[in-house]
Amino acid sequence: MNSEQFRAAAHTAIDQIIDYYDTIGSRRVVSNVSPGYLKPLLPPGPPANPEPWADIQSDIESKILPGITHWQSPNFLAFFPANSSYPGILGELYSATFTSANFNWLCSPAATELETIVLDWLARLLNLPACFLSTSKNGGGGVIQGSASEAICTVLVAARERYLRNLAAAGNSAEESEGIVDDNRSKLVALSSDQTHSSTQKGCQITGVKHHSIKVPGNATENYILTGPLLRKALEELTAKGLHPFFLTVTLGTTATCATDDFASVVPVLMDYPNLWVHVDAAFAGAALILPQYQHVPAPFEHFDSFDMNMHKWLLTNFDCSCLYVKTRKHLLDALSITPPYLRNPFSEQGLVTDYRDWQIPLGRRFRALKIWFVMRSYGVSGLQGHIWNSIRYGESFAQWVRDRADIFEIVVPPAFGLTVFAVKAALREESNRLTKAVYEAVNAHGEIFITSTVIDGTYAIRVVGGGPKTREEVLRRAFEIFVCKTEEVLRATDA
Ligand code: PLP
Repeated sequence: MNSEQFRAAAHTAIDQIIDYYDTIGSRRVVSNVSPGYLKPLLPPGPPANPEPWADIQSDIESKILPGITHWQSPNFLAFFPANSSYPGILGELYSATFTSANFNWLCSPAATELETIVLDWLARLLNLPACFLSTSKNGGGGVIQGSASEAICTVLVAARERYLRNLAAAGNSAEESEGIVDDNRSKLVALSSDQTHSSTQKGCQITGVKHHSIKVPGNATENYILTGPLLRKALEELTAKGLHPFFLTVTLGTTATCATDDFASVVPVLMDYPNLWVHVDAAFAGAALILPQYQHVPAPFEHFDSFDMNMHKWLLTNFDCSCLYVKTRKHLLDALSITPPYLRNPFSEQGLVTDYRDWQIPLGRRFRALKIWFVMRSYGVSGLQGHIWNSIRYGESFAQWVRDRADIFEIVVPPAFGLTVFAVKAALREESNRLTKAVYEAVNAHGEIFITSTVIDGTYAIRVVGGGPKTREEVLRRAFEIFVCKTEEVLRATDA
């Protein structure tokens, strides 16, 4: 493809992309192809000779789109949103244009420097304590990771190495220190509540440490949150067994029910466990911190070690864009920095620059700061706040409609951050579970909206969360009508 061919192809591709977005609401939101649908539609190998772009492009509609679940559809109310936006897409386009590995500053100074600048912008927007800024005296700062899971894995490594180094300091010789580390490595344990996303447990599997899950209670009036007293009890039990608790994930917006752990009550516990690395997983709901009414929430984070939120979930920035902040970047560098001769350069050697390769697991990295920059400038703070606030408002309307039909529905946990978790009402839990599952399946089979379910404390529940820029209140109203219709059908079939 030469320049002129690219110009023509890119124009037709952009036209097709705009048409796709303009008509997305009329497509069936979830793909209903069968497993293996694609193989029979494609030849057994690549073409022997070049194909024209027009032939390649026409296969998008006929072969690829049938297998796409339309996460950008206004009718996508499942999991959590994965917002896209035109400025975000343009950021991806330029990133692809400048493709480079960007592992250190010299690879493309703009990529590193823009990342530091926009992550500081974001930290201030989220009202994170100043200790997470790149300019902080304690040497904090932010770095873009591919996902919240990757971020957790990265800080788990840093926390593990910090803890082991502290233990090793008790040795009187290198040999003795090595012995202490060897003796205790298998006793390291990371904690989280049983509502924490599975990425913490996965991170433990990857980093070779134990994982302890703390059961947290909840109900229709109190969400499932981790508190200081529950944490303290778990820490005491683990320590009594001779284990070394070294890491804790607390969550702002748990996956199943969007619960926010009681951060303030965790802080005093840290007085007795000063070596515990506390990570805040705010993958989805962290975006709400840009609203004035949530800006008090991060105050206790100054006592914690790291914080992560995905701009690629709710903040209009295309996947992938997980923003990880640490209070002390030295801990990342101590754990992850290895400098073979081929990575040496005078700027890095003199400590004049940031080399983000030392803040992450992979070496190479994409120029992801561009899309944050484009999104922030195109929407402005007011546009971003408006988007988040609208999603929360529409979610609150939906929750109220559910409450208003207390004859057939029950709210399972207090609605939060635009998420409503509810079930079909019945005298017995087993009956409610059976009916709710039937309604869930009927709604998704109907195909106009797409939702997910969860099981919380033995209760089968439906989760509804908007958050897409095209998901307006009328979409949620229509979704509610579908729920009522399908529930009445299921109840009629049960009575018959
Ligand atoms: N943490 C929470 C609270 C989540 O809800 C999710 C995913 O939904 C994750 C972490 C994992 O996110 P990622 O896909 O970025 O790894």
